[in-house]
Amino acid sequence: MPRDHLVRGIFPEAGLRAMFVRVGDTARMARMLHGLAPTAAHLFAEGLCGGLLVAALQKDRARINLQLECDGPLRGLFVDAAPAGQVRGYVRAPAIHFPGDPVQGARAALGGSGYLSVIRDQGQGNFYRGSVQLQALSLAGDLRRYFAESEQVDTALDLQVLPRGDEPLGDVAGLLLQRLPGGDAEAVAAVRARVEEGAFARALAGSGSAQEALRLVVGEGFEVLADTEVAYVCGCSQERARAAITVLGRDGVSELLADERKAVVACEFCRAQYLVEEAELRQILSRLSEAGE
Ligand SMILES: [Zn+2]
Repeated sequence: MPRDHLVRGIFPEAGLRAMFVRVGDTARMARMLHGLAPTAAHLFAEGLCGGLLVAALQKDRARINLQLECDGPLRGLFVDAAPAGQVRGYVRAPAIHFPGDPVQGARAALGGSGYLSVIRDQGQGNFYRGSVQLQALSLAGDLRRYFAESEQVDTALDLQVLPRGDEPLGDVAGLLLQRLPGGDAEAVAAVRARVEEGAFARALAGSGSAQEALRLVVGEGFEVLADTEVAYVCGCSQERARAAITVLGRDGVSELLADERKAVVACEFCRAQYLVEEAELRQILSRLSEAGE
């Protein structure tokens, strides 16, 4: 099985930037972690790919969020990704499964309308959010539309979830190509056309390596700028659990103390559970009272 990684590079002659990501292991691990049924697992695998591709475009080290809200049974998904390859997320309805063709199943899970948003952390508490309405009702299709409409950048993009034997998440990979200032617009259009007729899926089936897939879909001359491991990493902690309790305010914490005398905070990204005991709850309450909140 090919390893999970995120590759960033350029085609200097054509003036293109290219990203390649592979997340098979990560997607299979996330399926187990969240107990995802096949259709939910398929969409989440695409979400992990898409999130990492968008993160790879960040100029600084800042994280990005990919958020999908839909009126179908999946209801939505959320991915938090960093340019250095750390990714985590969740789907709203993990048990969703439509038997048969996985691509048709994914469309049925999304329903008929919704939004896809990219949230970029710009530092110092500033966030930029760009959204498009779901229209293609596929993550790759609507992410393409996001780049065209919200960022107005010429982009070729594909996300592929390919079965291997009886493993539906056999290979999970994504490709993103953009024109650099002064780059060749026709080259992007040509790649988009090749991707639409299945070139990326064929390239993955035929070889494996990022370089080989990029050579088959885009052409010769790829230069790697960065090649980083992809890993499912969550930054939750006891301290964040305490912060989540603090958000409940004085009344909420008083209520917890009166009823349960403890709180269990479950992380939606990694399912870790944090116990906040009575003494800690009292501390939080006295701090909230001092602050008059
Ligand atoms: Zn966590």
